[in-house]
Amino acid sequence: MTVTLDDIRKAEARIAGHVRQTPLLQDAVLSARLGQAVVLKQEYRQTTGAFKLRGATNALLSLPPDARARGVITASTGNHGRALAHAARAEGIRAVICLSRLVPGNKVQAIQALGAEVRIIGQSQDDAMAEVARAVQAEGLTEIAPFDDAAVIAGQGTLALELLAQRPDLATLLVPLSGGGLAAGVAVAAKALRPDIRVIGISMQQGAAMAASLAAGHPVEVAELPSLADSLGGGIGLHNRLTFALCRRLLDSVILLSEPEIAAAMRHIHATTGDWVEGAAAVGVAALLAGHLPAPDGPVAALLTGANVSPETTARVLAGELV
Ligand SMILES: *Cc1c(COP(=O)(O)O)cnc(C)c1O
Repeated sequence: MTVTLDDIRKAEARIAGHVRQTPLLQDAVLSARLGQAVVLKQEYRQTTGAFKLRGATNALLSLPPDARARGVITASTGNHGRALAHAARAEGIRAVICLSRLVPGNKVQAIQALGAEVRIIGQSQDDAMAEVARAVQAEGLTEIAPFDDAAVIAGQGTLALELLAQRPDLATLLVPLSGGGLAAGVAVAAKALRPDIRVIGISMQQGAAMAASLAAGHPVEVAELPSLADSLGGGIGLHNRLTFALCRRLLDSVILLSEPEIAAAMRHIHATTGDWVEGAAAVGVAALLAGHLPAPDGPVAALLTGANVSPETTARVLAGELV
């Protein structure tokens, strides 16, 4: 089982009218510095504040009627849970969201406000995932996994179709990388349409499970540590079915960033767009600002994936404090 361009095109048709098309903005400072157009895909303006609504909506709309009637469950570092809650409410489906204690309070409240049942379990994404497995057996709920799910990956891939329609000449895509659902979907779509395009996955140095797994050649566990890019935390699952293989096959490289590099990018994006994005969303710009891609060979797009950042964090980043 894998995900194809055809799956992503069908997802695009299925979720049309349920998700927003988001703007693309040229970054004048980075374009001048790198001698190539640098564009920012403002996907943090998506409903629920992150691209996750694409995958969650596609997965829900693909469910058979009996599964819709019983309800859905997921473990999430926040944005997937929020997206699933929103999409489930729109469809009148019961949603249960399992979170670890590391998830920021603003994200928990946002999910509860969307009418979902929240269960806070343990200290890590793995603990929350164990509760999902239990409830699938005991309560008959259907798991909608945050990244390792074909319908979710296909939904996230619609972001690349939209981006390449807006800007067909892109040579490099900078994609925040956690479980790899976004990177896998984007890479499948982008490389099917433009075989020469480069897709680069970007994570934080601390606790990047997919990067460690790609380096090891198989899924591995890493210690979960606090990061400005909290949406990129969590394991990829030791029994990963789809995203590890897709990322290994399709990502051209992986870049890892320090916390100060991520903070600097959040400030740069605020200065450029007027918006605060979350650390996870800033990693593409961080890689460019920090000189990890000194001489791109064509136009570059950074995917600004989410804006669900707490006021406390933005205040500390603005003040130049490290978190
Ligand atoms: C989930 C998320 C990512 C990473 O997506 P994966 O599919 O898990 O790799 C990046 N940015 C934001 C804001 C997210 O919520």
